[in-house]
Amino acid sequence: MKIAVCIKQVPDTEAEIKWDTQKGVLKRDSIDPITNPFDEFALEEALLTRENYDGEIVAITMGPERSSDVLRNALALTVNEVHRLTDDAFAGSDTYATASVLAAAIKKIGDVDIVFCGKQSTDGNTGVVGAELAAILGFSPLTYVSKIRTIDAANKKIVVERAIEGGTEVIEAKLPAVVSVIKGINEPRLPNLMGIRKAAKMEIPQWNADDLGVDKSKVGSAGSSTKVVEIAVPPPRGAGEILKGEIADVVNTLTDKLIDLKVIK
Ligand SMILES: Cc1cc2nc3c(=O)[nH]c(=O)nc-3n(C[C@H](O)[C@H](O)[C@H](O)COP(=O)(O)OP(=O)(O)OC[C@H]3O[C@@H](n4cnc5c(N)ncnc54)[C@H](O)[C@@H]3O)c2cc1C
Repeated sequence: MKIAVCIKQVPDTEAEIKWDTQKGVLKRDSIDPITNPFDEFALEEALLTRENYDGEIVAITMGPERSSDVLRNALALTVNEVHRLTDDAFAGSDTYATASVLAAAIKKIGDVDIVFCGKQSTDGNTGVVGAELAAILGFSPLTYVSKIRTIDAANKKIVVERAIEGGTEVIEAKLPAVVSVIKGINEPRLPNLMGIRKAAKMEIPQWNADDLGVDKSKVGSAGSSTKVVEIAVPPPRGAGEILKGEIADVVNTLTDKLIDLKVIK
C-alpha cells in the first residue's frame, strides 16, 4: 500500500505570536518553527498503517528551506521517502492553491492509496486543505477521523470512525482516500537518537512548479482566489484589580461590580 502524509511546519504557538498587520501574515521568522501538532498524529497513523498493512510512506511538505526540518523528523521516524515542494511561485498561496500543489505532488508520487493529513494547522487554522485535496484528486474525503477500523487494500476499502457532535460515525469509503485525523487518534512516538543522526545527514529532495507540472499562474498570491485583507490583534488585557479588606466587604464590592458589568442580575 502506498501512503502519503502531508506535514506542515508552523510557528510554535506557545511562543508569542507576531503579525505583519500590513501584509496580513504571520512574522514567521520571529518564532521557532515546529511540526504542526495535528500532523504528528497524521504521521503516527501513517506509521501504524504501514506496520499493520505493509507498504511505504512518502511525506511531503510545501514550504521554505527551513521546513526541511519537519521532513527530517519524519525520516528519523523511518518514513521511506520525503519531498519538499518549493518554488517562488508558491509564495502567498491560499488554501486551494496549497492543496493544488500538494495534489500535484501526490499525483507525481503515483498510486497513492491513502493520504493522511491533520484536521487543521495551528497557524492558518482553516481546516480545509484535506477536503480540498480530496476534491482535486477525486479521492474519498474522510475528515475528523478518530480511528481507522480496517483497511482492505485488495478490495480498495477503508472503514473509519469520525468524531461528530456527541458521538461517533462509522464510515466505509472507497480507496484512495484522504484521511484528516484529530488529536488523540494515537500517541505519536518520538524518533530515537540513531534515527535522528541518520536523518540529519540525508538530502531532502525538492520538487518545484515545473517538476510538479503546476501552472504558476494558478498558485501563489496572484493565483489565489482569497486574500487576507485585515488582521486585528486583540488589545492586551488590563492589569485587573485585587480587592482587599474584610471578606464580607470584598464579597459586596465584587457583587456590585458583577452587577454593573451585567455578569449577574
Ligand atoms: C489568502 C491567504 C494568503 C496566505 N499567504 C501566505 C503567505 O504569504 N505566506 C505564508 O507562509 N502563508 C500564507 N498563507 C497560509 C498558507 O497558505 C496556508 O498554510 C495554507 O493556505 C494552508 O492553510 P491552513 O494552514 O489553514 O491548512 P489546514 O487546512 O488548517 O491544514 C490541514 C492539513 O493540511 C496539511 N497542510 C496544510 N498546509 C500544508 C503545507 N504547506 N504542507 C504540507 N501539508 C500541509 C496538513 O496536514 C494540515 O494538518 C496564506 C493563506 C491564505 C488563506
